[in-house]
Amino acid sequence: MEFDIPFNKPYLAGPEMDYMQEAVNSLKLSGNGKFSQKCHQFFCEQYGFRKCLLTTSCTDALEMAALLLNLGPEDEVILPSFTFVSTANAFVLRGASLRFADSLSENPNISPASIESLIGPKTKAIVVVHYAGMACPMNEILALGKAHRIPVIEDAAQAIDNVYVDQNGPRFLGGLGVLSAFSFHETKNISSGEGGMLAINDQTYEDRAEILWEKGTNRSAFFRGEVDKYGWVDLGSSFLPSELTAAFLYGQLEHLKQIQDHRLKLWQLYHEALAPLEQAGYLKRMQVPEYSGNNAHMYYLLCRSAKERTELAAFLKSKRILAVTHYLSLHASPFFSPKHDGRDLPESDRYTQTLLRLPLYMDLKEEELLKVCAQIDAFFKA
Ligand SMILES: *Cc1c(COP(=O)(O)O)cnc(C)c1O
Repeated sequence: MEFDIPFNKPYLAGPEMDYMQEAVNSLKLSGNGKFSQKCHQFFCEQYGFRKCLLTTSCTDALEMAALLLNLGPEDEVILPSFTFVSTANAFVLRGASLRFADSLSENPNISPASIESLIGPKTKAIVVVHYAGMACPMNEILALGKAHRIPVIEDAAQAIDNVYVDQNGPRFLGGLGVLSAFSFHETKNISSGEGGMLAINDQTYEDRAEILWEKGTNRSAFFRGEVDKYGWVDLGSSFLPSELTAAFLYGQLEHLKQIQDHRLKLWQLYHEALAPLEQAGYLKRMQVPEYSGNNAHMYYLLCRSAKERTELAAFLKSKRILAVTHYLSLHASPFFSPKHDGRDLPESDRYTQTLLRLPLYMDLKEEELLKVCAQIDAFFKA
C-alpha cells in the first residue's frame, strides 16, 4: 500500500553521489580507505570517542563488542527486553546467557533497579540501549558497573549526536560505555543505507578491535609500518564496509547539523501539537528525561491500551498515514521465551503494547505533520 505520509523517507543531503564518484575514481573501493578514515576522524573529533571503526551495520559492531569482551557459555549479559534483536543476538552468538531487565516507567530505557536485581557472579556485561536516542540514566548504571567490575556497553544505534547531562555538564552518548555501537541504517538520523560503527573508549580493547575488524590479522598495524609482516593473530571477521558506503556516509555527516536542527524542529512541532490531547487524557507524549538531550531520532506516543493503539494505527492507515509499533519484548519472543527465567517485565510489555511511532523524516512537510496530528485528534474525539 502506498501512503500519502509514509513512516520514513531516506534523505539525500547533497554530496553523497559526488563522494561515491570520487571513491570510484580513486580505484580504492575496499574498506579503510580515505572516506572511512574521514568518518572515523569525524566521530573522534566531534564526540571525543577514543577510537572509531566503521562496520557494515550496528549489528556487526555489537558482535565485535561481544568478541572483544571474550564472552562465552559461562557468562551472563544483562540487557533490556524492549530492544532490537541485534542487541541480544550478538551475545547469544558467543554462547552467553541473557538476563532481560525491565524498562523504566517513564520511558522504555533499561531500569537501573532492574539491572541491580540481576547482577550475579556470572554477569560479564551490562548492555544499555538509548531508546529513541534518549539517554539512559548513565550515572546510576555506570556506578553499578564500577561497583561490580562489569563493563557497560552502549547500543547507541539511535543515539547519534545526543548527550547525557549531569552536574558536570553534557557528555556524548556512545562515549560513556567501554564500547558503543552506532547504526547508519536507512531508518536512522544519519544513514548509508546499511552501516554502523564501533566506538572504543577504553584502551584495553583498542588494538584488538582493529585485529578483529581485519579478519583476525594485524593488517592495519602492518600498513602503518608497525610490524614487518602481517598474519593471523586472533579471531576476526569481515566487519569493514566498502569505501562506497563510507563515501556516502561522509556526505551525510557533513550535513549532520542541518539534519539534526531540522529533525528537532519537526519533533517540537509534534510535541506542541499533541499537548492538548495529553492534557485531555487521551494519550501520553514521549518525554525527554532531565538528564538527556534530544536528538529527535523518533517521535512516539503511548496509547491507553493495546486495543486503542491498534485502532489508532488502523485509523491513520485509512487516512493513508503510516504510524508503526515497535519492539515485541524479547523475553516473550518465540526464540527466547523457553529460555526466559519467567519473571514478568511489565513495563517492557506495556511499551510493546501501547507505543506508536509517528512519521518523522527530513522531507516531512509541516502541513503533513499537522495533518497527522489532526487525524489523531479526530480519532480520539470521534
Ligand atoms: C537499528 C538498531 C540496531 C541495528 O542496527 P543495524 O545497523 O541495522 O544493524 C540495533 N539496535 C538498535 C537499538 C537499533 O535501533
